[in-house]
Amino acid sequence: MNASDHSSDVIVVGMGIIGLAHALAAAKLGKSVRIIDRQPHSVGASVRNFGFVTITGQERGDFWSLALRARDIWTDVAEAAQIPILHRGLAMVARRQEASAVLEAFMATEMGEGCELLTGEAFKKSHSSIDLNRFESVLVSPHEVRVEPRTALSAIASWLKCVFGVRFETLTSVHAIEGGKVTTSRGVFQSEIVFVCPGDDLSTLYPDVMAQRGVTRCTLQMLRLAAPIYKLPHAFMSDLGLLRYRGYSQLPGIEALAAKLQAEQSAHLAAGIHLIAVQSGDGSLVVGDSHVYGQAENPFATIDFENLILDEFASVFAGKVPSVIERWVGTYASSPDQQWFVETPEPEVRLSVVTSGAGMSTAFAIGERVVRDAFQ
Ligand SMILES: Cc1cc2nc3c(=O)[nH]c(=O)nc-3n(C[C@H](O)[C@H](O)[C@H](O)COP(=O)(O)OP(=O)(O)OC[C@H]3O[C@@H](n4cnc5c(N)ncnc54)[C@H](O)[C@@H]3O)c2cc1C
Repeated sequence: MNASDHSSDVIVVGMGIIGLAHALAAAKLGKSVRIIDRQPHSVGASVRNFGFVTITGQERGDFWSLALRARDIWTDVAEAAQIPILHRGLAMVARRQEASAVLEAFMATEMGEGCELLTGEAFKKSHSSIDLNRFESVLVSPHEVRVEPRTALSAIASWLKCVFGVRFETLTSVHAIEGGKVTTSRGVFQSEIVFVCPGDDLSTLYPDVMAQRGVTRCTLQMLRLAAPIYKLPHAFMSDLGLLRYRGYSQLPGIEALAAKLQAEQSAHLAAGIHLIAVQSGDGSLVVGDSHVYGQAENPFATIDFENLILDEFASVFAGKVPSVIERWVGTYASSPDQQWFVETPEPEVRLSVVTSGAGMSTAFAIGERVVRDAFQ
């Protein structure tokens, strides 16, 4: 281990979940680690998301396996850093026969292991404390965990500081990197290797790589609803999500569902809306979201999108929709071609970006793999 005021074995740029995951993996190898971020604390995608570590629905193959591995690391980190796991598992509700057929196809794959496909009636019976609408069937997955991202990110940062001696240089912008020399707004830092985890900053470091990879931004609208009287045992999703998540959207039967949704919910599809509903420690619900793609963040939250999100919520949860108590937008790096990538723009640098809405679910496994490969 080697750490002085301006040098360390490893520098990580970015203290979102991807940066923290790379820092953890390097610290576990016994490396001295410094994290540099322009913000005072994490304020990007990593604290604006659902805190939902999703397995079921992730793209079949390597990405799904990464999510499983990341979930195991999340479980260990949550225990060590005293981060409450607020609920576990997922109920993927099929409101239509076409959606139910996709869930059946899912159950026939290896990804269905450990999951259960219940009839809508059986599910309602086992969830009698929640006022639910009628469903064709419900896939119940045990794999997921949910944390509160607003507190989890800072808890991980404190834990990395206290237990592994990770140093944080905040309010510090990285302007350039060359041969392990990192030039910032607060001087120059030196390390053996630099992991660049800039999220959706497309223009500061390696803009050419970002452009070649076709990376743009996705802007999402999110809501917090007042605590209902019921307690959610797990996260809820519905038919629209089957089109958005590649673990379902590449299965037989998806075309029929897509056609049905286009006929019945074209406004939701145009706004990229699907439903995720999760619950926080105080009982309030985090509900979303919409997806709009472009180079720039769209800072304006529209009431139209909000109503569409609430409409989908009401199609799953019967009774009066709880009032909206908070609204926010978030952005993440997005690419149509890949879920994530790592590039080596120079021998001492790894640029590591999750380009899908799954960084919270996969960061710890991606960090582990990228750091291990870099030190091999
Ligand atoms: C609304 C919303 C909901 C989501 N829901 C989920 C979900 O439920 N499950 C899931 O798995 N994923 C979800 N995601 C996706 C997930 O949040 C992201 O994939 C993940 O947070 C990306 O992490 P990151 O560390 O790359 O980016 P960020 O959290 O944005 O962090 C990047 C950091 O890099 C810093 N930085 C960049 N460039 C520089 C520089 N030059 N100098 C200094 N600092 C720099 C920034 O200041 C920032 O702090 C969601 C995203 C959003 C927006």
